[in-house]
Amino acid sequence: MRIVDLRSDTVTRPTREMRKAMAEAEVGDDVFGEDPTVRKLEEAAADRLGKEAALFVTSGTMANLVSLMVHCGRGGEMILGDQAHIFYYEQGGSAAVGGIHPRTVPNRPDGTVDLDAVAAAVRADDVHFPRSRLLVLENTHNRCNGSPLDAGYMTEAGDLAHGLGLKLHVDGARIFNAAVALGTTPAELVAPADSASFCLSKGLSAPVGSMVCGSGAFVAEARRARKLLGGGMRQAGILAAAGLVALTRMVDRLEEDHQNAKRLAEGLAGIEGLAVSLERVRTNLVFIDTRETGMTAPELVDRLKALGTLCLASGPQQIRAVTHHPLSAADIDGALTAFREAVS
Ligand SMILES: *Cc1c(COP(=O)(O)O)cnc(C)c1O
Repeated sequence: MRIVDLRSDTVTRPTREMRKAMAEAEVGDDVFGEDPTVRKLEEAAADRLGKEAALFVTSGTMANLVSLMVHCGRGGEMILGDQAHIFYYEQGGSAAVGGIHPRTVPNRPDGTVDLDAVAAAVRADDVHFPRSRLLVLENTHNRCNGSPLDAGYMTEAGDLAHGLGLKLHVDGARIFNAAVALGTTPAELVAPADSASFCLSKGLSAPVGSMVCGSGAFVAEARRARKLLGGGMRQAGILAAAGLVALTRMVDRLEEDHQNAKRLAEGLAGIEGLAVSLERVRTNLVFIDTRETGMTAPELVDRLKALGTLCLASGPQQIRAVTHHPLSAADIDGALTAFREAVS
């Protein structure tokens, strides 16, 4: 049985070209700043995001944490959406490790937050209050249908943040998906941001790693925070080599993932009992409402698994399916057959 794994784009495997590049990578001790392949990746990432500098880190979680630590300091407050990955899925590391206080504002279904609500959440200068330091946006927004946030909104948010004396960090784990979906560049989307992270290990298919980009001064501080967290890696060029292939070879094909997500969503919408909001499927994430099937999401996920299609239950009545390399249209059709059978 061919397994169609739609649980996450983190299950992508390194391509043959990546493995070759890894085997042949020139390396050195990166904590001494002597790994040429890491340097090359950091330059390429900074260039793609239109920033002065970049830092190679182990994960998206670490990319976010070092950024928040630099911008907020201990006791500082960040304002972020209540559906943010940083708020939901990072173990509260910003508080546990960074001493940062989170202040949430509601996310709308398109991943944005109301900028008036952000302005209202900023603290007055008062001895009772923490100091507001940072606004965080997520693009694409994972828990909000993988929605891409457009350049107009990003600019407005940046202007607002800076006008209020806040920095702006973008959790851009899937910023390349956003850029492809919106027909723009990641640099344009993060131009208003003081820092932006992205994952090499999701749709871009590298085995390990994320980047965090910003000014030279910001990245110098982020590098210190990375070392503090135990993230100083030595001959990391072995990993960076795959990241370079990811950046140069795997971005343009993301469009294929988006088309497959659309194909999946349209097929699912035609299955009795399943509900999908088609206009919300704009990148590679598909959320499926299972209420009308009479089954809970975990029950349906178990049935699908027995049929060779893997998905995640993202709520009691919600399933998440993610398209990624190298899934084809035929794989999507196979998954649709499994869904039809599982529901009937
Ligand atoms: C996956 C993800 C992260 C974290 O990345 P890891 O590499 O899994 O730590 C952060 N933010 C968003 C929006 C993500 O989807």
